[in-house]
Parts: sequence; C-alpha cells; structure tokens
Amino acid sequence: DAFIVAVSRAKPLNAFLVETPDHAIAAANAADAARAAGEALKPLAGVPIGMKDLFCTKSVPSTAASHILEGFTPTYESTVSQKLWDAGAGMLGKLNMDQFAMGSSNETSAFGNVVSPWRRNDGGNAALAPGGSSGGSSAAVAARIAPGATGTDTGGSIRQPAAFTGISGIKPTYGRCSRWGVIAFASSLDQAGPMARDVRDCAIMLEAMTGFDPKDATSLNLPVPTWEANLNASLAGKRVGVPREYRVDGMPAEIEALWQQGIEWLRDAGAEVVEVSLPHTKYALPAYYIIAPAEASSNLARYDGVRYGLRDLPDGANLQQMYAATRADGFGDEVKRRILIGTYVLSAGFYDAYYTQAQKVRTLIARDFEAAWEKCDVLLTPTAPSAAFALGEKQADPLAMYLNDVFTVPASLAGLPAMSVPGGVDAAGLPLGLQIIGKPLDEQSVLDAALAIE
Ligand code: GLN
Repeated sequence: DAFIVAVSRAKPLNAFLVETPDHAIAAANAADAARAAGEALKPLAGVPIGMKDLFCTKSVPSTAASHILEGFTPTYESTVSQKLWDAGAGMLGKLNMDQFAMGSSNETSAFGNVVSPWRRNDGGNAALAPGGSSGGSSAAVAARIAPGATGTDTGGSIRQPAAFTGISGIKPTYGRCSRWGVIAFASSLDQAGPMARDVRDCAIMLEAMTGFDPKDATSLNLPVPTWEANLNASLAGKRVGVPREYRVDGMPAEIEALWQQGIEWLRDAGAEVVEVSLPHTKYALPAYYIIAPAEASSNLARYDGVRYGLRDLPDGANLQQMYAATRADGFGDEVKRRILIGTYVLSAGFYDAYYTQAQKVRTLIARDFEAAWEKCDVLLTPTAPSAAFALGEKQADPLAMYLNDVFTVPASLAGLPAMSVPGGVDAAGLPLGLQIIGKPLDEQSVLDAALAIE
C-alpha cells in the first residue's frame, strides 16, 4: 500500500509514465522472506526504485517519452535493470524524461513536462524545471517518492537534473554500465548511472548497475569495484584541479561563490587545490551538438513504423509515405531538430567540415584532460551555470537550452566519470550542484570528493 500511495503522491509532478507498484511489492516480499529465513540480504533487498523510461523493461511499456514508441512493450530486460532486480531492488514505475533523452528540462517529453518539487522562496511562484533529460528521476528522488532512480547521461542528463533538485548522481566511466536494452540516443556517449539522496546510496546503486556485458561491444571487461566499502571523505594526499576555462563570461556570482565554497571544503578535507588548464573547453559544446545529433540521426533511423510502436498508414499510402507519416507524427520537435542537424553534418558535402572536425575537437578535449591528470586526481567545477529555471523559460530558444550543458559535456566527450553533489542554494533557496570529474575508471576518487562536499 505504501508503494501505491508513494507513486500516487507523485501525480502532480508527472514523474511517472507507468506505475508498477506490484513489481516493488514483489521485491519487498522477497526481502521479507529472505529475512524471515535468516538468509543474507542482497545489497538492494526490497528497495523500491524508479526506472528512467529509456531502459527497456520486459512486459512493461517503454517509450523513451516519445509518441513513436507508444504501444511498444519490450520482450526483454535491459542489462542494467536486470542487474538491479538481481540485487534485490523492485520497480515503482517508469519515469518521465525528455523525449529520447534529448533536452535539459524534461519539456520535450511527449507526455508532458515533469514539475520540480522545489519552489523559489522569494515569492516567485513559477513551476520549475526538474532538469533533464532524467527529470522524472530527479523529481521522484527529490520529492522522496523513491530512494533512488536510474538515469542516463549523454551530455549531462544525470548531473544537471541532480543539481537542479538537490540530489546526487554519478555518470561512471563510459563502458562501466551496459548499454544493452537502453534505447539509444548517441551511442559513443550514452552511459547509465544512479541518482539518489546521497553519495553512499549512489555508490551502492552504481555497484549493482556496473559490470561486463558481452551483449554490449563497448562494455568494459573489468571486475566491479567495491566503491561503497572504500568510501573515504578524507582527501589527504589528493590533488583537486580547478580548470580555469570553466570560469565562463557572465557566470552568476552565486555560482562563483558555490565553486569557491567547494574548493574550501575540499581543502578542509585535506586536498591540495591546484589550478589547471583545459584549453579546448569552449569547443566542447559545439562539438557535442554535432556528434550527439549525428549519432542520434543514425540510431533513430530504426523507427520506421514497421518494427516498433507507432504506425501511421494513411489510406492508399505506399511504404515511403508510411515511413514519412509515422515519423512526422511520432517524433517531437526537438527530436526532429536533432535528426535534421545530424543528417546534415553527416551528408557527403559537409561531413569533413562538421563531423570530422568535431571528432578532432573531441580528441583534443580528451587530451586536455589527460594533461590535467598529470597535475591532479579529480577536477572540481559547478555542475550547471544556474539553478533550476522556470518551466517554459527556455523552451522557445534551443540554443539557450543547449548552453545549460556547458559544464557537463566535456567529461562526456572524454568518457570520464563525473558526479554532481549538492553544494548549496542560490538567493531564492534553490539547490546548486558541484561537479567532480575523475580519471578514467577512478569513480572512487569522484565519490570520495563528493562525500567530502556532502
Ligand atoms: N541536454 C543534453 C542534450 O540535450 C544532454 C542530454 C543527455 O545527457 N541525455 O543532448
């Protein structure tokens, strides 16, 4: 009953697309039975979590919040969700998100935006964006509907919504979590990760989600580290880099102050703080908004009205007309924008000028980080350039929306682990997040620095 009440409390937030309390109840009952039998409890025994709707869940509709996948019920379970069930967790439901994970405010969902549970304390009553694309996940955890939720992060979709709602979220090194059964956006960037109330819960969930999967060619064949048991908020002997180029023009004073406060906390925890340079940072956002749409245009070619979900077949239509009608009706505006950008930058005449160039920039960005690791163990930056904005505020201006990702995309392009942890509030009492970026495979240092801030 508690699960049904919890999920129904979430209704005004529009965080859930599908409610599955029976799944959570079954996990809770299994945990009770194990406890009664004196068996050792699994790491997530009976824990009810929310599942971003980008994960395919067997026999439960999975739409990526797009009309084009309405009616699609997978006959298989994503590797990451299966791992969570194997660890004892249960599912409260499928969480709303930006359509195909494209967006930073959850407003591109075909099923309506999510509303953040936060309100400004200065009299401004506007409903706020929960961030995106994992906006259902951030809202459900922030509103204490679920103790944890899955997210996916292609250019910031775990970190930015975590920052906007005062929770924690980590994107591990690319390849740690299997992409098998996760509806693809940009395959060279997509990575799953947990969103939860604190750093320890993130570590516990991440351990359950991580691991080699032969069904994903980019999955890393490495043992799963014991991050939780090794958590250590003392940073003695660690060096924290502060990248000069993240001090962007027009950065609000409260974000500067947040960053400075973060530096001091890490120093108090024993770290040495050093300035570093990531000279190609300013090219990361434009490179991301070429590479991600290019991959998306290719990945989304599979939605043809034949294989999954929606089919629009006007009277007398031929195959070509059926494709066109289905895609015109099924994809939202932002998804179409990405497909058009992606198709353009991959076209014969423009491939070298845009796509090849963006890939070169990506390499330079990865090299910037490699050079920085000579001087430090982790990097500290703000997660986002502002606190949560009002719903509707940036919806008409795609570039303003894309600018929100300025601090999160560089680590995505380089495949690095990165985490957002609450760092303070702005003048209106809204949460602000600090981002820790780590060396490849060094999630432990990322979690430890986040713990020192928390
Ligand atoms: N906001 C970014 C975008 O729209 C990142 C999304 C994501 O990480 N899935 O592409």
